[in-house]
Amino acid sequence: MGTKWNLVFPGGKRNALTFSYDDGLIFDRQLVQLFNQYQVKGTFNLNSGEFGRVAVDYQNGVEVEDSTIKSEEVATLYEEHEVASHTVSHPSLTNMDTSTMAYEVINDRKNLEDLTHQFVTGFAYPYGTYNNEVEQVLKMCGIEYARTVQSTHGFDLPANPLEWNPTCHHNDEQLMELAKEFCEKKDPYGRIRVFYVWGHSFEFGRNNDWYKMENLLAYMKPYFPDIWLATNHEIMDYYLAFKQAKYTADGNKIRNTSGIDLYFSGEEGIFCVKAFSEKEL
Ligand SMILES: [Zn+2]
Repeated sequence: MGTKWNLVFPGGKRNALTFSYDDGLIFDRQLVQLFNQYQVKGTFNLNSGEFGRVAVDYQNGVEVEDSTIKSEEVATLYEEHEVASHTVSHPSLTNMDTSTMAYEVINDRKNLEDLTHQFVTGFAYPYGTYNNEVEQVLKMCGIEYARTVQSTHGFDLPANPLEWNPTCHHNDEQLMELAKEFCEKKDPYGRIRVFYVWGHSFEFGRNNDWYKMENLLAYMKPYFPDIWLATNHEIMDYYLAFKQAKYTADGNKIRNTSGIDLYFSGEEGIFCVKAFSEKEL
C-alpha cells in the first residue's frame, strides 16, 4: 500500500510565493505599493525602537536616505501584509545576555501588536546571527518561526521553523533562473514548494534597481492562479496545522485539530479536511 495522500496548499495548489523584508525604512512604502499592485504578500520585519528615525547614512562616501517609517503608519501601510519582529533596536543577538535578548524580542512583539492588533509571532534575525541560545529565548518569547539569511536556492519548508532559510536574496544572480525553475517545472514527486525571497527595500531605493522586483513579479504574474500568494505567517500557520493534525497509522483517518482547513492530494484528487473535523478515507 502506497501513501494515500500528500499535503497541498489551500485550494489544492502546490506552490507558494512569499517575501520577507527587513528594517522598515521609508522605501517600504514603495515596496508595499508594488506588492499590492501584484497582490503578492510580504512579511515586514520591523524594529519598533527605530520608528520615526530621520537620518542619513553613508554608502561608499555618498549620503543615502536612512529614515524609517513612523509608528502611526504601521497599521495602515502593512494592512495587506504581515508585521513581524526584528527586535526593538537591531542588535546582533549572539553573545548577548539572555534577559537583554528577551527584552529586545518581547518588547518588540508587544509594541508591534499594540500598533497592528495582530499576533506577532514571526521574526527575522538581525544581521542573520543566531545560535541555540537565541532560539531558546525566541521560543520563550512566543516566536514561532524565524528567518535566516542563508540562501538555499531550493523551495523546501524548514525542518526547524526557527531556522527558516529563504530561497534567495533579491540580488542573487540566480533569482530569475530560480523563478523559472519554480514556475515552469513541476516537482517530480508532487511536493509542495515555497519560493521565498528576502531583502531590504532600501537596497532598491538606494541603488535605484526597483526593476529587479518589477521584473520578477511581471515574469511570475501569469503563473499566479496556480500559486498561493501568502505571508510567511500564513504559510507557517498552515504547515503547523498539518503537523499538529492526527493521522491513523494506516492513513485512513485524519483529524484536523486546527482552525484552518487542510488540503490533501489523494488517489481521487484534491480533498479538504475542514477545521476541527475528521475525515475517513
Ligand atoms: Zn535588519
